[in-house]
Amino acid sequence: MSAPSSYIGRFAPTPSGYLHFGSLIAALASYLDARAAGGRWLLRMEDLDPPREMPGAQSAILRALEAYGFQWDGEMVRQSDRLEVYNEVIEKLRQDGHAYACNCSRKQLQAFAGLYPGLCREAGRDTQDAAIRLRVPDRTYSFNDRVQGQYSQDLSREVGDFVIRRRDGLIAYQLAVVLDDAWQGITDIVRGADLLDSTPRQLFLQELLGLPRPRYLHVPLIIQPDGHKLGKRYRSPPLEPAQATPLLLRALRALGQTTLGELSDALPDEVLSWATAHWDIERIPRCRTLAESQLR
Ligand code: GLU
Repeated sequence: MSAPSSYIGRFAPTPSGYLHFGSLIAALASYLDARAAGGRWLLRMEDLDPPREMPGAQSAILRALEAYGFQWDGEMVRQSDRLEVYNEVIEKLRQDGHAYACNCSRKQLQAFAGLYPGLCREAGRDTQDAAIRLRVPDRTYSFNDRVQGQYSQDLSREVGDFVIRRRDGLIAYQLAVVLDDAWQGITDIVRGADLLDSTPRQLFLQELLGLPRPRYLHVPLIIQPDGHKLGKRYRSPPLEPAQATPLLLRALRALGQTTLGELSDALPDEVLSWATAHWDIERIPRCRTLAESQLR
């Protein structure tokens, strides 16, 4: 018997809407990459933003994944169950001087084009009614993406001190994702290229918190003719169970994978097994976006 694979992958949807064709591509790529390596595939619900959560989205996402033949390992994890952990880490980062309270208003920051000018950096503000920002170092973080190649970002010049907890108490994605990926033992992150420019912030957090760095693979993002990401705001019909096989095949083609004519009569889990056996990341288009209109 061969040794069990150490690969652990995950799919981490946000329940702000239904799964759509763009999220299907991310789910499919992460699933196939994990299964082809003989690894585990975990499911994590990133439900950190109740005001933006769509009622019923969590169960709709689970139903869609099941209808499309995806089987995850173990129990699904919900980020909303881990708020205490995130808050403890934030408090520790603040006590250690890595993070600080900021009470700048949105209006005050308008003139700075998204790059925080450090106004509260040394001010020692009270955490009451304040956002918490992380002090970023004056250095470049780089990684070698398995599809996109080398990617670098200078955190202080391109990102600035970023928010890890909003003024209203909501925990930022960047912090939660790093803590959870490490806690769940994720070795490989496969997700959409819209998160490529979040990765350097995550590398910095991993370094700061002494957590391991996983491998990364960012798949092209499907965009609308107007250049917008496929998502709930821009016409994204939920994935219909009856469309599972044709949409899985379409997603496979978008990922550059070979398909067979006969597969159009196969069940979703048969498509997934076939695709697992034929998964080849060399065939994934090395670009950040793909126009939906150009997909076959
Ligand atoms: N929850 C994020 C999303 O739905 C994905 C996070 C990740 O894969 O790191 O866009």
